[in-house]
Amino acid sequence: MNLILFGPPAAGKGTQAKRLVELRNMVQLSTGDMLRAARSSGSELGLRVSGIMDRGELVSDDIVIALIEEKLPATEAAGGAIFDGFPRTVAQAEALDAMLAGRGRKIDIVIRLKVDPDALMARIARRFAEEGRADDNPESFKVRLDAYMRQTAPLLPYYEARGNLVEVDGMADIATVSAAIDAALAAL
Ligand code: AMP
Repeated sequence: MNLILFGPPAAGKGTQAKRLVELRNMVQLSTGDMLRAARSSGSELGLRVSGIMDRGELVSDDIVIALIEEKLPATEAAGGAIFDGFPRTVAQAEALDAMLAGRGRKIDIVIRLKVDPDALMARIARRFAEEGRADDNPESFKVRLDAYMRQTAPLLPYYEARGNLVEVDGMADIATVSAAIDAALAAL
């Protein structure tokens, strides 16, 4: 099974992805994690994306599509993929559909974590204090939220039209969100 966890930054996608990895032997594909790893390794890619990430802007579609493509075979050997933070643009969504179709696969479900943007600012201020991620500072986070609204939210009609979009209340506590996701997967 392949699923997309969809929602703005700090909606709880990473937390839920990690739980599904443990429960279902799936592979989490977080382009944000992959890009952060590239940065800390000091690779040429890491150097290329670091300024963009710190500002809170999106890196180019080509870069993240290539990162995902490289990882797809390993997800098939496991219980499937959890896409976390990808796709973020319509071009990425189309590329993902094409890559999966080329391998005889598809996206089975898109789970949208619906959250209130104002509450996100408070959530992120806490994460910034705890983890110190540079792009969680209030200025960059505002750019990230803007990027979500302008470039990523337009993906909702794309998946709605395919009939595999399920909405979950991302403002609920973690256990309630987890239970809602489990119910959506059980209904597949
Ligand atoms: P995240 O941890 O998913 O919030 O990603 C952190 C940062 O990495 C984002 O603010 C972007 O700069 C970059 N990034 C991660 N995933 C993508 C993506 N699918 N498309 C473009 N940029 C991305």
